[in-house]
Amino acid sequence: MTRSAVLGYPRIGAKREVKKATEAYWAGKISADELQKVAKEQRAERWQTLKAQGVDVIPSGDFTLYDHVLDANYTFNIIPSRFAKANVSDLDRYFAMGRGRQVGDVDLEAQEMQKWFDSNYHYIKSEVSSSTEFKLNNLKPVDEFLEAKAAGIVTRPVLVGPITLLLLGKVGRDEPNAASFEPLSLLDKLVPVYSELLKKLEEAGATKVQIDEPSLVMDVTANLGQQYQSTYEAFARAAPGLKVTLATYFGRLDKNVEFVAKLPIDSLHIDLDRAPEQLDSVVAAVKPTSLKLSLGLVSGRNIWKNDLAASLAIANKAIEQLGKDRVVVATSSSLLHTPVTLANETRLKPEERDWFSFATEKAAEVATLAKALSGEDVSSALEANKKSIQARRDFEKNSDAAVRERLGKVSQDMYHRKSSFPARIAAQDKVYNLPTFPTTTIGSFPQTKEIRLARSKHTKGELSTEEYECFLENEIKHAVEFQEQIDLDLLVHGEPERNDMSQYFGEQLKGFVFTENGWVQSYGSRYVRPPIVVSDVSRPHPMTVRWSSYAQSLTKRPMKGMLTGPVTILNWSFPRADVPKEVQCKQLALALRDEVVDLEKAGIFAVQVDEPAIREGLPLRQVDWDAYLTWAVDSFKLATAGVEDRTQIHSHFCYSDFNLIFEHIKRLDADVISIEASKSDLKLLQAFHKFGYQNLIGPGLYDIHSPRVPSVEEMKERLKAFKAALPNQKHLFVNPDCGLKTRGWTEVKAALENLVAVAKWARQEY
Ligand code: GLN
Ligand code: ZN
Repeated sequence: MTRSAVLGYPRIGAKREVKKATEAYWAGKISADELQKVAKEQRAERWQTLKAQGVDVIPSGDFTLYDHVLDANYTFNIIPSRFAKANVSDLDRYFAMGRGRQVGDVDLEAQEMQKWFDSNYHYIKSEVSSSTEFKLNNLKPVDEFLEAKAAGIVTRPVLVGPITLLLLGKVGRDEPNAASFEPLSLLDKLVPVYSELLKKLEEAGATKVQIDEPSLVMDVTANLGQQYQSTYEAFARAAPGLKVTLATYFGRLDKNVEFVAKLPIDSLHIDLDRAPEQLDSVVAAVKPTSLKLSLGLVSGRNIWKNDLAASLAIANKAIEQLGKDRVVVATSSSLLHTPVTLANETRLKPEERDWFSFATEKAAEVATLAKALSGEDVSSALEANKKSIQARRDFEKNSDAAVRERLGKVSQDMYHRKSSFPARIAAQDKVYNLPTFPTTTIGSFPQTKEIRLARSKHTKGELSTEEYECFLENEIKHAVEFQEQIDLDLLVHGEPERNDMSQYFGEQLKGFVFTENGWVQSYGSRYVRPPIVVSDVSRPHPMTVRWSSYAQSLTKRPMKGMLTGPVTILNWSFPRADVPKEVQCKQLALALRDEVVDLEKAGIFAVQVDEPAIREGLPLRQVDWDAYLTWAVDSFKLATAGVEDRTQIHSHFCYSDFNLIFEHIKRLDADVISIEASKSDLKLLQAFHKFGYQNLIGPGLYDIHSPRVPSVEEMKERLKAFKAALPNQKHLFVNPDCGLKTRGWTEVKAALENLVAVAKWARQEY
């Protein structure tokens, strides 16, 4: 018999119960007991939902009030001393680690967050040092197993594996040898504590456990065969009755399969959604062993209906080699990256709805696959699926021939500006001779309560479009006056019209659809509703020209238009599954190209195309980087190269670590790039110099992620250091390190006044 498994499920609740309760708790509106009650109800609902879909192997312990990696840190006592010392309840300590805490005289900064592999989910980094004392601080995995068991469901508890946990961690502040300390050196101390937990799970009646080691799809684990072997041997000794499923996802095992297949585990899970090409090599490697193979066929990362017939064909290939009993069908990863259910979507057209599966529907797909493989009659489900898949294909076929034709006709010269950088900057200086050390901002000004209120009233129809636009014009006017008053050189309109830098464009482009309740966790209680690319993308009308030219009409100073780049829009959406990302990205690029040209025509001097997602979209294995960066950078160039020399193209990245990808950054050929630099060390900037980067740079002079106002003196010092690191850059742009939308006007004014003062000083000094 072939069984079905789900690796993890969203935590938010079908009606956002968990998010609401958590935020209510933070706001002091409900008690800890009330929050735990909601959490318990939701856990029960998740288990019952999965059971009702017919899933055989149901996860537990993957539920969290903030982040599952933070949960693991808490359970294994990876609690930095500043939190351990705080005189607060366990629950508040836990939340403080995730989101910081400023209550009374307690002022705790949150722990660092990072993107979970190449997803848009953020996890809390473990902070470890030689003084970290691992121990079982709580028994959350056991408690939740027992809770499910009491509700009549025997689950498979899920744990983040110890090697992945340490690899994704960072060195704690209290480590005396911080420069040389390797978190992974603590593995031998951590494994016994994991073993203890596994023993406790076994004693509680668990027969299976899922241990997630997604780091196995990254290059760093290539030399860790020994560590994996000893770790999993220790686990097998500690809890011999517990069958371990080692779960990998988001990529391929490559050579790691050689040592993984020898581990003393019960089954290996692989992601066949993201890396279908690994099937044959993995099957060959596990065949001589007794390992079961869990096939991640139903995507945990996208929202498309699974092509069940295609999945069955793949599963049958594995079954031919391994037999029915050694094959499990599963979701490719946890479903936490998908919305809860389609059931609450009322506004999608029926034919659109029919294309999708959210988490609950995906669970049913996994169950159907297992039943079909086990010989049960699920013909009506398979038949219905076949129809849906066919309908989607038919739609695709007739999507938008004009867009495809246009993309087919793109010529090489469309990827390049007319002249090289020196000629362009000369032409730009003729149009508008910016002073040396020109000052500018990254685009957004504070998204105030008033702005959010007006937007929501407009969405609800309580504010007419005319009234809303009038409101926005006022905001823009205020922003322009403000910038003139504090004497900034290159102005922006302030982005008051944008709900989100990616969604705003998706909503205006053809080829996207939007959900009402398609919430996906970004971090903690923060959820986003990614736009969905459903067909060929085009721009039916200009998107930002109206706002930028209005802003320009108010001032003689040059205005910088503001767009989100193709890679970033795509990365923060659910892409199509049946068309290469490259094609989707280039279609977006063509749409943006028209917008860039229209901004130029409207008399806008500079256009900034933000691409913060270029780097976060980097493939997990370095051999794949070039292929990705080639089309990603080409897409940016296609979007921006349509203008005359006199138009200054800016780009913005929220980071400055470009090591290993400098060739590609250079190839972007933006006239100006603004980068985060205020927090990172100067080595990153020196690397630009070493690499011979010639185009202009605006290293962030202060960190906008904190409300504190940077002084003139500290920014002077920073600018001096930037100048020293970049001796060939005659005039740096002077700007903050990111957009100001999350800040308040008072601090923005104070900070930017200081920034302008620093630029004026630099003009005298250099
Ligand atoms: N232009 C955007 C803003 O200022 C850039 C945001 C970002 O880089 N994430 O908000
Ligand atoms: Zn940024």
